[in-house]
Amino acid sequence: MTNSSLQSAVSRRQRVLAPTYRLFYSDPIHMVRAEGVWMYDADGRRYLDAYNNVPVVGHCHPAVVSRIAEQAARLNTHTRYMTDGPVELAERLLATVPTELTSVTFTCTGSEANDLAVRISKAATGGTGFIVTSGAYHGTTETLSGMSPVTGSATAPGVFTVAAPVDAQDAGNFGARVDECLQRMRKTGIKPAGLLVDTIFGSDGVISHPEGFLRPAVEAIHRAGGLFIADEVQPGFGRTGAGMWGFARHGIVPDLVTMGKPMGNGHPVAALLASDRAMHKFAEQHRYFNTFGGNTVSCAAALAVLDTIERERLIDNAREVGEYLAQSLRAVATRCPEIRAVRGVGLFIGVQLESRDRATYIVNALRRNGVLIGASGSAFDALKIRPPLVIRREQADLLVKEVEQALRSDT
Ligand code: PMP
Repeated sequence: MTNSSLQSAVSRRQRVLAPTYRLFYSDPIHMVRAEGVWMYDADGRRYLDAYNNVPVVGHCHPAVVSRIAEQAARLNTHTRYMTDGPVELAERLLATVPTELTSVTFTCTGSEANDLAVRISKAATGGTGFIVTSGAYHGTTETLSGMSPVTGSATAPGVFTVAAPVDAQDAGNFGARVDECLQRMRKTGIKPAGLLVDTIFGSDGVISHPEGFLRPAVEAIHRAGGLFIADEVQPGFGRTGAGMWGFARHGIVPDLVTMGKPMGNGHPVAALLASDRAMHKFAEQHRYFNTFGGNTVSCAAALAVLDTIERERLIDNAREVGEYLAQSLRAVATRCPEIRAVRGVGLFIGVQLESRDRATYIVNALRRNGVLIGASGSAFDALKIRPPLVIRREQADLLVKEVEQALRSDT
């Protein structure tokens, strides 16, 4: 594809898609197909995908593709008929979480799951106040954009922010910060409803250590009568290499767990898991029906993802290749002091740099050399590395080589 035909494809897109859309990279890529950890552009050039967490079992995994196709050819309907898919999927999901979580509600997106979690928390507690981190992203609805300060939207009334930990040492202060925040909330006469946290702090720059640092924060919100909502949209489905869910590393039992993105390997399917205690009041007052949430094909996709994670031992791979990747990046840091820190766990790694400009430069330099990563952190000054869980060591080596080469090149 020539530069001018890419330009004309981009202009055509811009004519019809809303101006709110953004393309990645200063030099956008026209993607046409993908397989495993590789994505291919219109010229057949391949890129190592070290960014996309949605295709968790690898792009276009045949087990997921065939399950979707088979189910789409047989039956696709909603949850108002008795069908087996949603029941089997709910049983499989509940088997991965503490027994306190007893019910599943299917949605199509992580935003819908979080929005529902907010409604359930308000009903359960009679409160309206929420705490989120200052670099949080939780979704697209009116309510959630007011709870997603990283987008630049103002926080909604009743939403209070706490700074996410900057490092493992600061993580020890997180519980106290949540406590202080609850006091601020009470002073304004607002009753707490919940603490909503991405348990890997992906948009705050990836904060994973030490394990267990979330526990005092969960205790604080519970003492105040609020619920703890674990947003697993980013860390869920094995990414941390330490079990299926990010919250498990913290030894906590959430009242509500939301999940999405990787759940269908690209097919839109998401869910909310709830304890009885959290769900009880809401269920008394409301019915919930989501036309496409839990449809038969989406459930088939999610079941295929769960099967594949198990069959290919992808949680072990996330841990093993993730540790290797983090170690290799730390070795680069000894040679390239502009790396301030390498954070993360499993296959979710944040590489802290000095500035947003530098992170943007590195992301674009890697793209030119055929490796896809992103930037994160409230100042967008950390590299965000989140490959499909099927990545192998030699592919991790390629990624690390390209990161080092980009760091050594001039802006
Ligand atoms: N929570 C987190 C932590 C997310 O990263 C996202 C998506 N980036 C969402 C919620 C919203 O999910 P969706 O885009 O599926 O609505």
